[in-house]
Amino acid sequence: MKVGIDLGGTKIEAIVLDGVGKEVWRRRVRTPHADYTATLEAIASLVMLAQQQAGVPLSASVGIGTPGSLYSMKGSPVPVMKNCNSTVLNGMPLKRDLETLLGCAVYMANDANCFALAETLSGQGVDMFDEGIPETVFGVILGTGVGAGIIVRGQPLIGLHGIAGEWGHNPLPESALALLPVTEKGRACYCGRNDCVETYLSGPGLALSYQLRFGDVRSSKAILRGVRSRDEASLSIWRMYSEQLACSLSYIVNILDPRLIVLGGGMSTIPEIYEGLAQRMEPYIFSGQFETPVVPAKLGDSAGVFGAAWLNPE
Ligand SMILES: [Zn+2]
Repeated sequence: MKVGIDLGGTKIEAIVLDGVGKEVWRRRVRTPHADYTATLEAIASLVMLAQQQAGVPLSASVGIGTPGSLYSMKGSPVPVMKNCNSTVLNGMPLKRDLETLLGCAVYMANDANCFALAETLSGQGVDMFDEGIPETVFGVILGTGVGAGIIVRGQPLIGLHGIAGEWGHNPLPESALALLPVTEKGRACYCGRNDCVETYLSGPGLALSYQLRFGDVRSSKAILRGVRSRDEASLSIWRMYSEQLACSLSYIVNILDPRLIVLGGGMSTIPEIYEGLAQRMEPYIFSGQFETPVVPAKLGDSAGVFGAAWLNPE
């Protein structure tokens, strides 16, 4: 049995998977607002419920998906959280505190890594590959932000600084930036850098592209409606977005050459995003041809909690 907890900004969800990865139990509670101790207690209560109601052994480890990542600061032996949008977690030794509270091993990864792991072991990686899970998977979240996770042989790649896969905070490739007038680039990102991929490929990034070119404010949904009604302004922004996505993803392919690319988050549910994507990527790919499937996520909102459960090694 595997217990997974998805710690989000608004909800904490728990799941129990059986020996073959099938869901046997699930609960969700609201995340306590800006209260670290109450957040720890809410997680502990969910784990206790899983033990009582789903028969999870008391000593069983727990996998937890979080915003941000764990990082060992120089000179400090205990890793603490950083880059969390739930800022109450930042600087806190979440893993150590939970292991003390729960009395069991805790395995943690950020939500993008959990997403990629879930799609590899319970989603498209299982559905699309009869011969066994794909060796390398790049899982991308295109939502209000842009995150990504790299899964190699069923394990998330974490990295020395806990940032492996943080593709969203690479600069948009120069070949895509060169297509834009100066008035549409130089976008400040919350991370302190400029022109991060996230500032173009997130939902708000797409909306900003429209605003910078045409002056009026339109949501990404309104732009998509415009694309479908053949509105020329929306179409021009969408073509630009498609090129930016193709160019940015192709850089990953030239480094990682994954067997599968899975897209999640709000933007990934737009069918038009996949139209002509492979052809757009091909000119940027070193091999000259591009055969990697780029597919929408299968698990939807459940990916985080499935991925958290799969973090458990037993
Ligand atoms: Zn950034």
